[in-house]
Order: sequence, then C-alpha cells, then structure tokens
Amino acid sequence: MNDAGVTTREDELRDNLRLVRERIQAACTAAGRPADDVTLVAITKTFPISDVRALAALGVRDLGENREQELKAKAPDCQDVTWHFVGQLQTNKARSVVRHAAVVHSVDRASLVAALSKAAVAEERVVRCLLQVSLASFGPRDAATGRARGGVEPEDVAELAAGVAAADGLELGGVMAVAPLGGDPGEAFAGLREVASRLRSEHAGADWISAGMSGDLDAAIRHGATHVRLGRALLGTRPPLG
Ligand SMILES: *Cc1c(COP(=O)(O)O)cnc(C)c1O
Repeated sequence: MNDAGVTTREDELRDNLRLVRERIQAACTAAGRPADDVTLVAITKTFPISDVRALAALGVRDLGENREQELKAKAPDCQDVTWHFVGQLQTNKARSVVRHAAVVHSVDRASLVAALSKAAVAEERVVRCLLQVSLASFGPRDAATGRARGGVEPEDVAELAAGVAAADGLELGGVMAVAPLGGDPGEAFAGLREVASRLRSEHAGADWISAGMSGDLDAAIRHGATHVRLGRALLGTRPPLG
C-alpha cells in the first residue's frame, strides 16, 4: 500500500509474483524437482512499460513478448533483463527481434532459421533458439480450436534441429510448445517431453523445455518444463489483442 492506504499496481504485481512463485515451488515439490529447475518468463504483451519495469524491480530476470512491435518498443527501456520472443515470427522481422531478444522460442521452419542466422551474424549476437513443436496430435481429434497454435511436427524436429545447430549465430536451446485447446495438457506435455529427450540425445546442450502458461503450468512442470511463460497469472486479464 502507499501512504494513503491505497493498493498500488506494484503491490498487485508483488502479490501476484509471490503467488506464482509459490505455485511453481509447489509444482516442483510435487514433481520431486528443485524449485530452481524452473525459470519464470513473464510475458508482458499488451501491458505497459511501467509494468515491465516494476517486474524487473521485483527481481524478474526474464521477460517475453509475442510481437516484434511490442518487443522493440519495450526492450530498449529495460535492458538489464533477458528478453525472450515467443510469438509467430515473419522472416522480415527477424533482424529486429534478434536485436532485442536473446532467446527465440518460436523457431518452426527452415526459412526462419536462415533469416535468424543472417540477422544474428549481422548483429554480432548469438541467439538461443527453441524449436516450437506442434502438439496438435495430442489434442482433440476434431479440434476446431479457433486459433492456430503452430509449430513443427514432432517427426520433423530432428531435421530442423540439425539446421539450427549448423547455422552461424544460433545456438540450439531445446523445445517450446503450447498445449492444444480442449485437450489434456498433461498428455500433450508428456509427448513434448519425449520429443525433448530425443532431441537432447542428439544435441546435449538443447536441454530447455519451454512449456506451461498461466492455466497449465503445474502439468508442464510435472512433465519436465524448465521455463514457464506466464502472462495473466502475473499481470492480470489482458485487454483483447487488437
Ligand atoms: C501470451 C502467451 C503466453 C502467456 O499466456 P498466459 O495464459 O497469459 O499465461 C505464453 N506463451 C505464449 C506463446 C503467449 O503468446
């Protein structure tokens, strides 16, 4: 509270962060994992830079955006954190994303690998790339999900991984996925974990599993997530995306 006894946005974010950290801790304990196995990535899309700064001041070290426009608007104002890019990415936006983000979670096709590599070399950076895996095959069969979730099919992961591993300026970091709507997230994340362990047997350093959002972080942690991407649980309800 401030001096007038009013709850501020900082108070709200501090409370949300405490609750989220407790949830992560509890899920780790239930899974028999140490809590520091899991990194919280705060997804700040649609929220103002003041929230970004407040989260950083509260000790959040990893922040993410899903649109290049918002990333490039916010990242320069908050540079002492690691920025992650988690959204669908057009090749013509690769340079801008590479300039601002150290990790790209949404690498899903060879043309994007080529664009990111070229951009990373030009920007003299090394970008950690996660392969976004489609978990549609673990969702409801007749899924009219309304929203394309994207990603490379599990059987095509090995080839895309080889492309990233061979590309200048890129480092293969692991996998990322979004659970299919209307399915059992536990089943989907169990499938992702198998994809991840196959990948790791070929590429030892590719040991990140970015899975779990506000609604399903517990299931994700149970199935080995190393990074959870949380928006609403931290920041509250989003205004609808325009
Ligand atoms: C928005 C978003 C999130 C966060 O979702 P919440 O449900 O708000 O926690 C995670 N991952 C991606 C790819 C997103 O676009």
